[in-house]
Amino acid sequence: MKIALSFDIHPLVQGRKLVLAGIPIEHDKGLLGHSDGDVVLHALTDALLSAGGLPDIGTLFPDTDPAFKDRESSFFLLVALNKLHEKGYKVDQVDLTIVADEPKLSPYYVKMKKNLSRLLNLPEDRISLKARTTEGLIFQKDKPGIMCFALVVLTSL
Ligand code: MG
Repeated sequence: MKIALSFDIHPLVQGRKLVLAGIPIEHDKGLLGHSDGDVVLHALTDALLSAGGLPDIGTLFPDTDPAFKDRESSFFLLVALNKLHEKGYKVDQVDLTIVADEPKLSPYYVKMKKNLSRLLNLPEDRISLKARTTEGLIFQKDKPGIMCFALVVLTSL
């Protein structure tokens, strides 16, 4: 069994679409990033790579590479999953905690979990997903952002 924890954080800015766990979220701001800025899929991908003893997401998919510009982050996840399978691992369990003061994410839990289940080819009861606010203690009002923590467990194929 292999376990790893990772996290990602991106600033929330005007003029970008907000996508979390591959699901479009209605909001007046979106996450700034070279790809679509999906912190959930980035944290998850990085944790999977880490658990598999593979190079991290920034090394495999550098943000200086135009090939990854505005790319859907599910691409990174699927590449990581292939690499894990090649090494003889499968995903056993995923625990995701999104940290955001805005927008309210609970209305999207069902959709996000369904999409993660599809991408990971993992039953929904092996995936935990929830969001927490920081009570204004971490993100500043004029500098909002979203962060996500991902804990993953891998087992042998
Ligand atoms: Mg990122």
